[in-house]
Amino acid sequence: MIVCFDIGGTAIKGAAAYAADDVRPLARQQTPIHDFNAFVSVLKSAIDEIGGTPECVALSITGIIDPDTDTSFIANIPCAHQRPLKADLEAALGLPVLIANDADCCALAEYGVGAGRGHRVVFSAILGTGVGGALVIDGKLINSVGGFAGEWGHAPVAATRAGNPPEDLPRFACGCGLDGCLDAICSARGMEKLHRHLTGKAMAAEEILESWQAGEADAARTIDIYIDMLSGPLALVVNVTGTTIIPVGGGLSNASALLEALDQAVRARILRRFTRPLVVRAECTIEPGLVGAAVLGFDFVRQRSAP
Ligand SMILES: [Zn+2]
Repeated sequence: MIVCFDIGGTAIKGAAAYAADDVRPLARQQTPIHDFNAFVSVLKSAIDEIGGTPECVALSITGIIDPDTDTSFIANIPCAHQRPLKADLEAALGLPVLIANDADCCALAEYGVGAGRGHRVVFSAILGTGVGGALVIDGKLINSVGGFAGEWGHAPVAATRAGNPPEDLPRFACGCGLDGCLDAICSARGMEKLHRHLTGKAMAAEEILESWQAGEADAARTIDIYIDMLSGPLALVVNVTGTTIIPVGGGLSNASALLEALDQAVRARILRRFTRPLVVRAECTIEPGLVGAAVLGFDFVRQRSAP
């Protein structure tokens, strides 16, 4: 048995995992964001509630761990921010601790029990609050501590001319400090910014998608440009990683027509030919953080017990 946690800025969800497909969540607890001892106590009491000695503790976090220094960057939980989180938790809990970020856990969950089952290379993408992703190859999370590998949303690669007929586009500023990131124009807020830029109308991403499906011309133009901007970089990801499936999570993945349009555009732009969908909705949509942490934990247990 291993104990998994999905740690967010407002709540900590714990679970006992007996297998990747047997994850039993506990009641969620409020995240103590300023007091590290209180933070550790929440984890300890969950472990006590489950009982027995877990083989390890696996965490999904909304942040990154610097792979060179092991320092955590979890801005929304100040008490867990900028410290050697793994070492500190191992000392406090007396158990091996594994940490991956939420995008990494989505990829692990899809590899283990979701749309990526049976695929050697799984690149999973997040389209929602941000544009993110993570890569799992032969069951191994690439750059397992870090949260940098797979981040295709941050680089100044967004096209400045896209759509049919082509439209000149600005390079929107991104929260990471660069201009022209996909995150700034293809996240849900990015889609809204793009639509406002093209039409002058402020609409929520859900409304834009609904209007598009209802055949409204302005929304169709926005989505045409959106798909054009997103599919080129995603096609490059396919060529570079050799992924044979792209499970997509995040809020925008609920729009199945959007994923179908993205799938067609990506498949038309890659070198390898697929006669089946490549971009699909993530299947592990319930507690992907906990399930992904469980997959990470069981891989650690398997490796440790290998001869
Ligand atoms: Zn960025």
